[in-house]
Amino acid sequence: MIIIKHISKSIKGYLRNYHEVPPVYNEPCPLCGSNLHKHGYYKRTVLTKSKSYILRIYRWRCSNQTCRQTISILPDFLIPYRAHYTLIYESFFLRIFHKRETYQSANLKITRGYPYLIPKGTLKRWKRQCNKQLQRLTQQMLKMLLRVYPAFNVGSKVRHPNVAETLIQLILTVWKKVHPSNPYPFYGFLPWINLLIQE
Ligand SMILES: [Zn+2]
Repeated sequence: MIIIKHISKSIKGYLRNYHEVPPVYNEPCPLCGSNLHKHGYYKRTVLTKSKSYILRIYRWRCSNQTCRQTISILPDFLIPYRAHYTLIYESFFLRIFHKRETYQSANLKITRGYPYLIPKGTLKRWKRQCNKQLQRLTQQMLKMLLRVYPAFNVGSKVRHPNVAETLIQLILTVWKKVHPSNPYPFYGFLPWINLLIQE
């Protein structure tokens, strides 16, 4: 089982703090409530626009002999089973769905300053995968919004017929409710969503 936690703001911070030692994690087993003990790590590659890093993802195991659940703690800047850093996906999402850029233009901007372009086939796959997730993410955001702001009038605020735009509007609205004193970061919100949607 993967549990996403906000344990570091960046890859470099993660490497600095957790290259040798696991983060502190004192929660009980999510399945049976018994104690967990440390259970090594696996190596996970993460790609940024210029580099690939190898991170240790630490595991814990349930001490209850009949349960034996294993959990891994994933930093929120990584999306389960995705190779790239969240900033890359965010940039892609906003450029394709919000700014309506072409693949070529999005690609040049995402990888700005570096000679490697992301293969077009990969970008197309990302778009397909995003499209599949849009509806579900929109519902998750709406649920989250109604939890923090029960009086929210969905009909009055969500006007966009386009699901991606609706999602972006919802993310903005939820962000303002949850972080009233923090300005909305046009980039840097995906780790936050990554945390929210595991609920
Ligand atoms: Zn257990």
